[in-house]
Amino acid sequence: MTGSVTVVGLGPGDPRLLTQAASEALAQAQDLIGYIPYVARVPDRPGLTKHATDNRVEIDRAGHALRLAASGRRVAVVSGGDPGVFAMAAAIFEAVETGDPAWRHLAITVEPGITAMLAAAARLGAPLGGDFCAMSLSDNLKPWEVITARLEAVLRADFVISLYNPISSARPWQLGAALGLAAEHRAPETPVIFARAVSRPDEAIRILTLAQARETKADMATMVIIGASATRLIPRGDATPFVYTPRSVPA
Ligand code: SAH
Repeated sequence: MTGSVTVVGLGPGDPRLLTQAASEALAQAQDLIGYIPYVARVPDRPGLTKHATDNRVEIDRAGHALRLAASGRRVAVVSGGDPGVFAMAAAIFEAVETGDPAWRHLAITVEPGITAMLAAAARLGAPLGGDFCAMSLSDNLKPWEVITARLEAVLRADFVISLYNPISSARPWQLGAALGLAAEHRAPETPVIFARAVSRPDEAIRILTLAQARETKADMATMVIIGASATRLIPRGDATPFVYTPRSVPA
């Protein structure tokens, strides 16, 4: 029997946000590969071997998955959110492109998941209602100059911007720099959302202005959404305001 690799998106955290197809792929796997907290989200069961590894070893993990599949195993590689968004799917295909040519003939499939940006947006209303983009603020895999150049371009183009990987212990200043750049292009009252651990028990969502956001700390479990010029709040008295971006742009 030939082996397979399915790259599975686990969604933002709440098990109810795992798709049926992802859940079936997990049920069929013999080996489970991924970053420790994601592998831990999948319940143990007889016949499932877990291979949890630390972060930042995506390419090693991908090679491991492909070698196991080539030996005939049914492998699931897991990512939080969607596996195609700053996660394992690209690492798998990079390993396929550069690795053993036989890997190109393996059955490799991707099961999508709800990415953090969409889960966060849904909590608030419709902040991504107009044109938007997603960027990873991590300069582990690309130079900081590329990040700032792209950020400037999308700020100028007036996209709503979802920032993944805003900060880590090794990257303490990048988010402040990115928000500083945003302040050069957008008004101080522009809504900025800090959405932490969306759909997990420790979820915390803050709706700030750009000026406040520059004074606010985030962590690795947070994603930041910077509003466009049309993004606004609908106040609701004591209740949390809705945040939305209209689809229409005046001519
Ligand atoms: N593949 C993942 C993203 C991986 S990058 C996805 O599609 O969601 C890791 C970054 O994603 C984190 O630093 C954080 O910015 C964001 N993130 C992941 N899960 C999150 C959640 N539940 N709530 C808020 N942000 C989250």
